[in-house]
Amino acid sequence: MIMEDLFGGAVSDRTGPRPRRESGYMNVDIKQRFKDLGYRLSRWLSTRYGTDRMSRDLLIAGLILSIVSRLLRARLLYSLAMVMLIVSVLRTYAPSASWEKRQRELQIYTGLYRKAKNAFKLAKLTLTDRQHKYLMCPSCGKLMRIPRGQGDIVVSCPGCGHQTRTRS
Ligand SMILES: [Zn+2]
Repeated sequence: MIMEDLFGGAVSDRTGPRPRRESGYMNVDIKQRFKDLGYRLSRWLSTRYGTDRMSRDLLIAGLILSIVSRLLRARLLYSLAMVMLIVSVLRTYAPSASWEKRQRELQIYTGLYRKAKNAFKLAKLTLTDRQHKYLMCPSCGKLMRIPRGQGDIVVSCPGCGHQTRTRS
């Protein structure tokens, strides 16, 4: 019996078992292929920058933002989330020629992260401790505490030595 298939070509009705390849041979072949693929993949990965704190944070923030922006139907935020995810992936798989750039990015990111964290801490301490004045070193971002009521004073940062004039 001859049937027309969906694409218009004639196919014969099956009249018996399909011709099979030797299954033992196939298994070995597939295993070897996966082994080769795994080897090539791990060799390729070893030439990549890999993940760091910046890429990890971008990935987590991007995922959260993509969900939130979907719920809020905020397209611009969603685009931002996609950019964050793409940057995270590109940084992780960056070739060795650009590792120096990635490390500089990481340094800048770590500095900004610490400053932002300290800014929150500073606001909290300023609100809760009225006996002291808290300030952040404008040079290195270190948090400093000075007693109130000393008038105008110059504070030296214990971390980097930067001097700041402030009213206590
Ligand atoms: Zn400092």
